[in-house]
Amino acid sequence: MKDLLCDEFQETVGELLIRHQSILDVITKYQESCARTNRAVVKAVTNCGCLKVEAEKHPLPPDASLEDLRKLRDSHLRGKICDQCREIVEDEIGRSLFYLAALCNILDINLYDCFIKEHKKLNTLSIFNMR
Ligand SMILES: [Zn+2]
Repeated sequence: MKDLLCDEFQETVGELLIRHQSILDVITKYQESCARTNRAVVKAVTNCGCLKVEAEKHPLPPDASLEDLRKLRDSHLRGKICDQCREIVEDEIGRSLFYLAALCNILDINLYDCFIKEHKKLNTLSIFNMR
């Protein structure tokens, strides 16, 4: 069911993508949409104030176990995103997905195959995948 939805999404993007057929348009629009997503998160901090960033270096003990590393994980984010900011961030993520699907279309890559491939990779690498 989910793979059908992803495939349908990719097909719909292909049907709607009349203006941006050029790979140059698509990759620059995709990059722009990623930047806009980041900008929307930053605006939640600097304009709205529903989120706050508190970042500092956490010293890692040389003999730290994986469990210790888990406990030391920190998003550096405080607060909770408000409904208005969430809406904006979700819109920008949606736009990014649109151009990602468009990029896949141009390169004849199936987006869902990418999800599956990456998911398998993550499952294999598990905790050691520190990307
Ligand atoms: Zn907000």
